[in-house]
Amino acid sequence: RKFVYDFSEGNKDLKDLLGGKGANLAEMTNLGLPVPPGFTITTEACKAYLESGEAPAALRDEVSGHLAALEERMAKKLGQADDPLLVSVRSGAKFSMPGMMDTVLNIGLSDESVHGLAAQSGDERFAWDSYRRLIQMFGDTVLGIDGERFSETLDEVKSARAAVTDVDLTADDLKELVQKFKAIVSEETGRDFPQDPREQMDLAVRAVFDSWNGSRARLYRRQERIPHDLGTAVNICSMVFGNLGPDSGTGVAFTRDPASGQQGVYGDYLQNAQGEDVVAGIRNTVPLADLEQLDKASYDQLMQIMETLENHYRDLCDIEFTIERGKLWMLQTRVGKRTAAAAFRIATQLVDQGLIDEAEALQRVNGTQLAQLMFPRFDSNGGLKGADQIGWGIAASPGAAVGKAVFDSYTAIKWSRSGEKVILIRRETNPDDLDGMLAAEGILTSRGGKTSHAAVVARGMGKTCVCGAEELEVDTKRRCLKSQDGRIVEEGDVVSIDGSTGKVYAGEVPVVPSPVVEYFEGRTHAGADEADELVQAVHRIMAYADRVRRLRVRANADNAEDAARARRFGAQGIGLCRTEHMFLGERRELVERLILADTEEERERALGALLPLQQGDFVELFESMDGLPVTVRLLDPPLHEFLPDITELSVRVALAESRKDANENDLRLLQAVHRLHEQNPMLGLRGVRLGLVIPGLFTMQIRAIAEAAAARKAGGGDPRAEIMIPLVGTVQELELVREEAEQVITEVEQRHNVELGLTLGTMIELPRAALTADQLAECADFFSFGTNDLTQTVWAFSRDDVEASFFTAYLEKGIFGVSPFETIDKDGVGALVRSAAEAGRATRPDLKLGVCGEHGGDPESVHFFHEVGLDYVSCSPFRIPVARLEAGRAAA
Ligand code: PEP
Ligand code: MG
Repeated sequence: RKFVYDFSEGNKDLKDLLGGKGANLAEMTNLGLPVPPGFTITTEACKAYLESGEAPAALRDEVSGHLAALEERMAKKLGQADDPLLVSVRSGAKFSMPGMMDTVLNIGLSDESVHGLAAQSGDERFAWDSYRRLIQMFGDTVLGIDGERFSETLDEVKSARAAVTDVDLTADDLKELVQKFKAIVSEETGRDFPQDPREQMDLAVRAVFDSWNGSRARLYRRQERIPHDLGTAVNICSMVFGNLGPDSGTGVAFTRDPASGQQGVYGDYLQNAQGEDVVAGIRNTVPLADLEQLDKASYDQLMQIMETLENHYRDLCDIEFTIERGKLWMLQTRVGKRTAAAAFRIATQLVDQGLIDEAEALQRVNGTQLAQLMFPRFDSNGGLKGADQIGWGIAASPGAAVGKAVFDSYTAIKWSRSGEKVILIRRETNPDDLDGMLAAEGILTSRGGKTSHAAVVARGMGKTCVCGAEELEVDTKRRCLKSQDGRIVEEGDVVSIDGSTGKVYAGEVPVVPSPVVEYFEGRTHAGADEADELVQAVHRIMAYADRVRRLRVRANADNAEDAARARRFGAQGIGLCRTEHMFLGERRELVERLILADTEEERERALGALLPLQQGDFVELFESMDGLPVTVRLLDPPLHEFLPDITELSVRVALAESRKDANENDLRLLQAVHRLHEQNPMLGLRGVRLGLVIPGLFTMQIRAIAEAAAARKAGGGDPRAEIMIPLVGTVQELELVREEAEQVITEVEQRHNVELGLTLGTMIELPRAALTADQLAECADFFSFGTNDLTQTVWAFSRDDVEASFFTAYLEKGIFGVSPFETIDKDGVGALVRSAAEAGRATRPDLKLGVCGEHGGDPESVHFFHEVGLDYVSCSPFRIPVARLEAGRAAA
């Protein structure tokens, strides 16, 4: 095995072996771009080190060989006293990973060679500054000394000299600082700062290896499902200096605007500085375009290189570069991150430039980005410009929300009931805040990260959320919010929060609807050019996706309005109509009567009242989905959901009894409530069980479906109803319902003299159903996977409780990267879906297969459903475009 590769030996496809940074440095070297010479130690070497605790024996020799070659090429030796070769040591895994050691610069400097560097550069100040940077970075990242110790000492020296920035420090000041830094190292580690350059290098390499197993790096990998055994590469690169005077500098550049996708010159430049100065924000950068005035030759060369890179990578690249005394050097490139809007625009621009084809364009965007583009946002042309930003936190759940500040859930609920829009502001939220969060337009917290309670729950609810806005002080006692500059938002003052950028504003910022939603809705909008271009790009990419996808996309919709919207968004039918939603409001009382019925006659009457209402609903639904399949699910939820709350009713009856005016109906109701009360209602009398124990209930629903279909047919329509039975666990249940259904349907068909073509299928949402899918298929025309209940029952996770109770802790521990209710758990729940699909099709090859749990609109899950061979996914109307796009990406 070879453990070390010269930059000229690798290429961009060797990311597994050389890491992202190393592979791209190699690629640039081979493109003939000016990359400072160097070499990469492979991830294999790291893995061997991590396994045995020792660097492999061959590594030392290989590094020596490559170092010798580098020294020969540079005509100086590492740390050579009179003219030192200096190198940087940088980590670089296959995926860029927070929590890993980053960079140590200026390796090779020592008490002796610092004089050589001073003489060679003719700049004593520069040499001592470089040495103090080495000790600082090395002390912090390699020796594990708290970085504060160095920065505090630097500040002390600066204030003693009345220096505003570190550029104001003289060579003598820096010499003094080096002595102080060395003293810190001796004090903290019990030994002197290493003077042997090779030892410096070896220790830095080892520190990079060790940082792979740092706790933050491990947590990140657990959450992102990055395997722990990939290891990191280490890049050793000869130093070039951007801090050698005004004809030197350092900068970052993008080949296109990563915010909008626009072509042009984007980036920042800092004269007379090293990379970490840019990151630290010590001095202000200038726009990259200004480099043209400062150093035209380097600027022109950089523009040329950017074009080369973009044509070569066929994508937006971001770049780090340094200019040393008028000579341009490329330090890093990679395919750059971008906003959702930029992703869509760049993908189509590259198609137009002939750099990529349509299939590739589909892979350059994703459903999460599309979903981001579908949230309303603050008007960037109008209000946002003058908006009064008071703080900034983590963009936890996207969207734009405006409302009056409230500081507890009780007020949130009270005010929202009286029609106010409110933003719930808390230091952090907990399960007691759920109702307040539901009532609020958006949630703002000053503590907690992307996996905090507020963030997780808000994302689940689809509420805008900014969390961890640490510079804002939430004072729940005084009921106000204080900004760092002392401004105060009192309860009732309007605030605006942007869940896509994390920004917090005082006052009302105007919100505009998403141009992408306007487009899906078929409305034209009078937008700026940028929005037009975005809509064009989305339109084209959706067309590619629709052309290639195999999965069909249906909607979960229970009323004609949702169905119509779903159709505009591209739905190819309804995959789940939850009929319980048709029994709310005034109709709840009819269900109540059905439940309370003591006699056959009373029951018949209650059912008779429900039938025409239910039938009317179906007629509307079939009409809005004319010609497309509509899966109607028979009643599912536990009956107590249709009855008054047990506590409220008990109190009411008790009060009435004490006044001696209890009414008969309330007493009967209370009895029924007690009779139907269950400890675990989600595991109790619901779904098909209801249909089998409440005579006439399912028959009424089936009759309503059949009559509605017959009515549509008579009116010249093309209804395609499918009847679906929920919560089936065994084929006997299905057989009983089917028998009953066939009788009713035949009767309706004969009476109207039509063929209705109704099919009958089952949900697969219990483990037992999945495990006996071969038997169920004997009795079902289709399966629809109810992955909400299936997740609940496979994990024994109460879907109504766990996300607010312990999921935050589970996410923080990295047990999941994302809730299994959001993205399908492929190994557990998914395995059951896969085997049930196979077993069902083995019994019945034409069995239609779909999914109607929330996962049907989740990007990653859609890929899984494509892969296991389902025919369609069904999701809420708003997520249909996302599902279409991801189905296309899965097939392309
Ligand atoms: C499911 O369980 O996945 C499902 C779609 O049904 P519901 O969410 O209504 O229980
Ligand atoms: Mg269900």
